[in-house]
Amino acid sequence: MRIPSTGLGGLSPRRRNILCEILPEVVPSHYGSDAFKEIDAGWKPGSGYTTCGGLTALVAQRLGVTLEMRKEGMGGYGLTGLRNAALRRGAWVHASSRPGHGQYMCAPPGALPQPGDMYVLCSGEGHDFGCCTIQREKEGDPWPRFLGAKVEHVGIVVDTGCSCLWVTADAGQGSSQMQTAEYVLRNFDSGTGYMTGEQGREGKPMRRLCGWVDVDRYPYLDGYGG
Ligand SMILES: [Zn+2]
Repeated sequence: MRIPSTGLGGLSPRRRNILCEILPEVVPSHYGSDAFKEIDAGWKPGSGYTTCGGLTALVAQRLGVTLEMRKEGMGGYGLTGLRNAALRRGAWVHASSRPGHGQYMCAPPGALPQPGDMYVLCSGEGHDFGCCTIQREKEGDPWPRFLGAKVEHVGIVVDTGCSCLWVTADAGQGSSQMQTAEYVLRNFDSGTGYMTGEQGREGKPMRRLCGWVDVDRYPYLDGYGG
């Protein structure tokens, strides 16, 4: 188990549940173990996708979602779907200093996600105006009005107590032959909003902090809503 450097005292019961009960069941783990099957039972070497969305899906399912929320994308493996689901319920915090469009909260300057929040990394054009709006998940979706940036990765925030050095819990680690779920140290540059991201062809590029799901604001069924 990883405890935030700022302790557990100020955290909601829901956040403590995520950090102390849910994550330790499956992090760390690796492909082939029973714990990793909880994150993604279908992945195998060469599957051609990473399993990061499996961890946020597991956390959401343990906190409890209705069929309606599941259809909206909460508790599913889709990365864009997770953000769409949070936008639909007013729980998305967009990490942008520029006003955009849509129903969302803009993170005040210097604000960081709290332990237990689900963070999203993105890359490319469209972040300021698109990443705060519902984005297309499948052919035929009428969205988006404003095309967002590419969602690259999702995971769970464990510690941002030292704002430039974060601890996160992430699936989709390891390689295309051996996926793992691990606690990861990440460097965050609060000046640019970029942090060390996920493995790409050129190594570990910096990725933009797109925003996060404020888990206290999402109406999960665990009875601990904020
Ligand atoms: Zn973005």
